[in-house]
Amino acid sequence: VQNLERLKGKENITQSGQKIDVCANIGTREDIENVLRSDAGGIGLFRSEFLYIENGTKLPTEEQQFQVYRLAAEAMGTKKVVIRTADLGGEKQAECLELGEDRNPEIGYRGIRVSLDKDEIFKTQLRAILRAYGNMSVMFPMITDVEEVKQAKLILEKIKNELKDEKIPFNEEIKIGVMIETPAAVMISGELAREADFFSIGTNDLTQLTLGMDRTNSRLERFYNTHHPALLKMIRIIANNIHLEGKKIALCGDLAADLSLTEKFIQMGIDELSVAPNQVLALRKKIREIQ
Ligand code: PEP
Ligand code: MG
Repeated sequence: VQNLERLKGKENITQSGQKIDVCANIGTREDIENVLRSDAGGIGLFRSEFLYIENGTKLPTEEQQFQVYRLAAEAMGTKKVVIRTADLGGEKQAECLELGEDRNPEIGYRGIRVSLDKDEIFKTQLRAILRAYGNMSVMFPMITDVEEVKQAKLILEKIKNELKDEKIPFNEEIKIGVMIETPAAVMISGELAREADFFSIGTNDLTQLTLGMDRTNSRLERFYNTHHPALLKMIRIIANNIHLEGKKIALCGDLAADLSLTEKFIQMGIDELSVAPNQVLALRKKIREIQ
């Protein structure tokens, strides 16, 4: 640990001079502190679900959300904060949201599908995100179709106009991100690349959907190959398609912290790895050892 502490303030750079951004994932309010201590380059994935899950039977208000996003923005200063809009449903159920039973929750009513369907809840979240100043971006989960991105962007535009009419200050230049975590999104990553500002690969969902194996089923463990060649091929394809549009590709699933793949990710041109706060310095160490 002492050893890792010495890496604070150092660059994420290989021996031959290749750089890669290292950011942190957060999923609780307390994680904001942990990110600061971790010396990450920003928050690459703010899993906003906890705001809903912790709130009992009441939906979190715009003000409540605004306070937390602002806290993250203030803590990070000029460093970026990527708020992923709620990926509720599936295994992430919140008491305040009656989503009904799914026979296959991981491929059910969740993520952007819920957001576009229950758009009042989505709008409240977008208002809070837009109002939180700082280097903020918004990112949409479980995208399968260009149309979903277009609809989400349309709603975002509507909210911006509302805020303008109400003379409430907000971030007009907010960047829009799309998660690539379904095989459909991989196949249309070239088209998606034109619709957003940046992209992040969610290997947790992408693995389970590509292998057709529920990530929460422990009986599948011996078959669940997170290094499956199909998956690595997909990551390469995504990086190429996004780079063809001149945009950046991050990777924020658990695989980002797999140090046996770090060199491969750098070779593929992944621009950013986003990992749990306590994994940031170990990843930096690994990067700095690569030739
Ligand atoms: C992923 O699917 O890899 C991801 C980062 O999102 P989550 O784990 O929250 O589904
Ligand atoms: Mg996911």
